[in-house]
Amino acid sequence: MRIVILDAYTTNPGDLSWDWLNKYGEYVTYDFTKPEEVIERAIDCEVVITNKTVLDAKLMEKLPNLKYIGLLSTGFNIVDIDYAAKRGIPVTNIPSYSKAAVAQLTFAHILELCNAVGIHNAAVKNGEWSRNRDFCFWKTPLTELYDKTLGIIGFGKIGQAVADIALAMEMKVLAYTPNPKGRQESESFKFTDLDTLLRNSDIVSMHCPLNPSTEKMANEVFFHKMKDSAFFINTSRGGVVDEKALAKALKEGLIAGAGLDVLSSEPPSADNPLLTCENCYITPHIAWAGYETRKRLVGILESNLAAFINKNPENVVNGVK
Ligand code: NAD
Repeated sequence: MRIVILDAYTTNPGDLSWDWLNKYGEYVTYDFTKPEEVIERAIDCEVVITNKTVLDAKLMEKLPNLKYIGLLSTGFNIVDIDYAAKRGIPVTNIPSYSKAAVAQLTFAHILELCNAVGIHNAAVKNGEWSRNRDFCFWKTPLTELYDKTLGIIGFGKIGQAVADIALAMEMKVLAYTPNPKGRQESESFKFTDLDTLLRNSDIVSMHCPLNPSTEKMANEVFFHKMKDSAFFINTSRGGVVDEKALAKALKEGLIAGAGLDVLSSEPPSADNPLLTCENCYITPHIAWAGYETRKRLVGILESNLAAFINKNPENVVNGVK
């Protein structure tokens, strides 16, 4: 069996191994593959593994040996899964590998906005503490999370993990989700409608998928409903935010700050208005990228491939068994 990984670098920049693929066939990995290189690189392969390299019907038509597509991601919008299904090609994804890591980065952003560790470290290293007349100083308002309300939009695996952390920190949690389940309501945890969540939360955090019902959900009206002291966090998908409206809300003081791990276009164009917003912390889509998280991802990739070879594919997203 011939196996190709079209874009291996982001998952494994060198700290993990692909050698386990030898068990299943002859393999070749490419760090990145341009669209015009896909056919040449995958033409002989039965197994194609991809992270963000698009496999549309036109490309797949030119891959006669293709029998299986293994995604290195949870999302599967880069593959024409219907065309693959017509050809009887199972497409598998990697679900649930990163919920703890995404919940952790969500809190890294919240804590940065509340405690500004980075800003204070920079000030100390610049000599401001040494020159200070008092034993301490602070550069930003410091915010205690205890008893504050966290509004969670999308109460799936990650939203629930974020709620667990918030409740452990003695915060109150409001959750808005189309299908309210996953936790019993209590004094500190309630399901609610979006309007109530936005008006009552000190922090609003997005954990819903990008789909037609969530695209640009965080828009001008949304930010107008938030408290002017509130923070906005997005670690889900950039497309759920109207970025111009968020930049305006930050610049006009409609909200107090934002923490983002995802943008509508990645990498962002240099004129993305959020890049010049103060009190907007942006990380380059790293929530999933810790070593342990990527190792878990590669482990699931292997079990997906083994299950396909054993004629009992798992984590199939296009119904082909
Ligand atoms: P999930 O499918 O378990 O949960 C999603 C939740 O959103 C579900 O409860 C669903 O009912 C809800 N939802 C759907 N439409 C909604 C709407 N219109 N309004 C409110 N809620 C809605 O997914 P998950 O594993 O918790 O992942 C959540 C998001 O995190 C996904 O968008 C995923 O792409 C993103 N993610 C980001 C990273 C990263 O590196 N930053 C890594 C993994 C996942």
